[in-house]
Amino acid sequence: MRRLIAGTGWKMNNTVAETRRYAQILGQWSAGQDLSAIDIFVLPPFTSLHAAASAFSDTLVRTGGQNMHWDDSGGWTGEVSAGMLVEAGCRYVELAHSERLQHFGETYACVRLKVDKAISAGLTPIICLGETAKEKAAGRADAVLMEQVLTSIEGQPDQRIPEVVLAYEPRWAIGGAEAASPDYVAERHAALREVLRKHRSEEVAQQTRIIYGGSVTPENGKSLIGIADVDGLFVGRAAWTPEGFARIIELVATAAREKSLSA
Ligand code: PEP
Repeated sequence: MRRLIAGTGWKMNNTVAETRRYAQILGQWSAGQDLSAIDIFVLPPFTSLHAAASAFSDTLVRTGGQNMHWDDSGGWTGEVSAGMLVEAGCRYVELAHSERLQHFGETYACVRLKVDKAISAGLTPIICLGETAKEKAAGRADAVLMEQVLTSIEGQPDQRIPEVVLAYEPRWAIGGAEAASPDYVAERHAALREVLRKHRSEEVAQQTRIIYGGSVTPENGKSLIGIADVDGLFVGRAAWTPEGFARIIELVATAAREKSLSA
């Protein structure tokens, strides 16, 4: 059975002091919960990574970067390497977030290089995948997802693929008013799993986790995490407070218990 995931990306929010406060509140809450069946991550901005890793060190919460460069060092002003993230206590790194693609011109060809470096450094890459509103309207969602995922994992041997987390984040649903409908999410996740099955193997398809992100809230999260092919929730705004993230974690932990009972 795939371990479910509850994760949040903070974007450009939370100073070091705010990070410590968030971790203290979430840490106190989580101490009274049984969260051993799920994986939990937070993705602070670079300057708060070290503080987050140390503030969460006695909890099950792991930290990750929101981006990284594919090179180890050198003339890449403004960038950080996989090794630097590891040194700051990271276990994860988010790649190809829609805001990176939209505002900073990132491409999946670069993402492929980053995936390779991240895995080699011992980081779990969270690879964001998603179609734009225009691509959705043109009925191209699954073709776009296939192209993105195959480019991102190109050159990786099959045994490495389950080490990545795929995050289906429809670009039109991020930062919006509404998440994609459960039926729509179920179709896209099934299509992504089918791509892994067809282009890799049944084993890779069964082992690789595919999480959903895009306007998830504690209210709509229950029906999304209940979908068989959805292996976790990736949340922005609704988890920017520790109380909000606690509600999402609770949903995922409950779903993990239910899914294991029905397995
Ligand atoms: C995101 O930015 O990845 C995201 C999922 O944001 P939100 O939940 O706020 O839509």
